[in-house]
Amino acid sequence: MDVSCCVCGRSDSQDVMLCFSWCTENNSIILSTATEDENLSCFVCRDPDCLSQFFKEKHVSRQQARELLKDVRSLTESRTIAEKLIGMSVRSGNAARGVTQVFEGLKNQRISVIIVAKSQKKNTRDKILSAAKKFNVPVYEYMGTASFEQAVGKKQCTCVGIFGTELSEQIKSDLHVIKN
Ligand SMILES: [Zn+2]
Repeated sequence: MDVSCCVCGRSDSQDVMLCFSWCTENNSIILSTATEDENLSCFVCRDPDCLSQFFKEKHVSRQQARELLKDVRSLTESRTIAEKLIGMSVRSGNAARGVTQVFEGLKNQRISVIIVAKSQKKNTRDKILSAAKKFNVPVYEYMGTASFEQAVGKKQCTCVGIFGTELSEQIKSDLHVIKN
C-alpha cells in the first residue's frame, strides 16, 4: 500500500516510509513500527528536509529531535539487516516466497524465520502468525529502504520464509522487530 509524506506529499510504499505516532502516555512523538493506530500516526519520507520540517511543525524540542533521529538510524540498520537476509536467501534458493510456499516450508520444518511486509492484509498476517506459533518460528515485520516486493523480487509477495542455515541464524539474532 502506498502512503504519502505528510510534509512534501510524495507517495511511496508503506514499507519505506517512516511512521511517527503520538504517544499519549508521555505526550510526545515516537517513531513507530505499528500501524494499528493509524489515526494517531503520520508518515514522513526519508528526505532530511522533510524530517526537520516535520519536527518543526510538531514543535519537537532539539533534544527530542536528536533522540528521534537516533531511532531512525537504528531502524535503518535493522532494515538493512532484513534486506540483506532476504536478498541472500532468495539468491541462494534458501527462501520460500509467498503464503503458499511459506506454509509448505513450515510444514516441512525448513523455515527458521518469517519476514512479513508491513502492507500485508491483517487476515493473512493472523494466519501466518498462528501457523508460525504452532511451529515455533519467529515472525519479523519488514521495513526496508526498498519495498518488500523489490527485496523479495516477486510481485505482490507479502511474506518470505527463510530456510535455516548457519548464516540465517547469525543474521536473525540482529533483527529487532519481532511480532510473536
Ligand atoms: Zn517528504
